[in-house]
Amino acid sequence: MTPAATPPLHARARRALLAAVLAGAGALGCTPSLGDPAELTVDGVRLRVELGAGDFNAGNEALVAWVRRSAEIVAAYYGGFPTARATIELRPGPGAGVQGGSTYANPDALIRVRVGREVTEAQLESDWVMVHEMTHLALPDVGPEHAWLSEGLATYVEGIARVQAGNRTEQDVWAEELRQMPRGLPQEGDQGLDHTHTWGRTYWGGAMFCLMADVDIRRRSHDAQGLQDAVRAIARVSGGLKSEWPIERVLATGDAAVGTTSLEDLYARMKDSAYAPELAALWRELGVTADGDAVRLSDAAPLADVRHAIMRGTKPRS
Ligand SMILES: [Zn+2]
Repeated sequence: MTPAATPPLHARARRALLAAVLAGAGALGCTPSLGDPAELTVDGVRLRVELGAGDFNAGNEALVAWVRRSAEIVAAYYGGFPTARATIELRPGPGAGVQGGSTYANPDALIRVRVGREVTEAQLESDWVMVHEMTHLALPDVGPEHAWLSEGLATYVEGIARVQAGNRTEQDVWAEELRQMPRGLPQEGDQGLDHTHTWGRTYWGGAMFCLMADVDIRRRSHDAQGLQDAVRAIARVSGGLKSEWPIERVLATGDAAVGTTSLEDLYARMKDSAYAPELAALWRELGVTADGDAVRLSDAAPLADVRHAIMRGTKPRS
């Protein structure tokens, strides 16, 4: 805060104009430089964006637009942004790109993301970090031994949520899963997801759990429900990351919402044993075939409908 009791007129006018821009009031010939922090509303949720001494080459407007887009993607996937308000702290640093983040929920939702001052608009447009971090807000705190669930879910949801919002292609997501999912398979000495805290098992082992759960829920419900419906219910009932829940309660809540025991069954199978699903068979059934660095998708595959349902997702509000 400055000691001045009343901001000068031009500052007030600039803030009013900024508010109009952030509210999407229409195209303007020029945009003012954004204040710090910037306040924006997404899906009824107040987001406070702290830009620090940003001085980003791309301009602060591009950074705020990226936060808004990411929040809209997550809100659409979950049928609402997972918290009532949140602070997004952007920490500028040397170089380019979005360089990683972390998410906290107590006492209030706070996401810190490191961003290079030379970040480009194209890097912001194709960024996964902000969506990943915002996704963490939707799951209760399940403790470090179950980090595979929070990291795996954020890894899995990021791609699908962005496809549903038109921010990423379906082929790109399947190609990444085809390429990366084997890193989630148990290696020698593995003792199951709850006891093997390697990078591969945490991120891609967790994502593999989510994919298998999604396929199972959709098969059992004849594509009427999916993991998306389960995690929406978990977010709604728990209030998300600010709640500490045992993993059993999280999974039971998700299963109850979709009328299956898919999550609990898979957890029993994977929590303390080196269960390795046959990924090659799963890709074949889903109709996902490697084609160089890309994939070909086949609608003749037995689970092609499941594959479509995963990416089509659940309607905005259930
Ligand atoms: Zn994460």
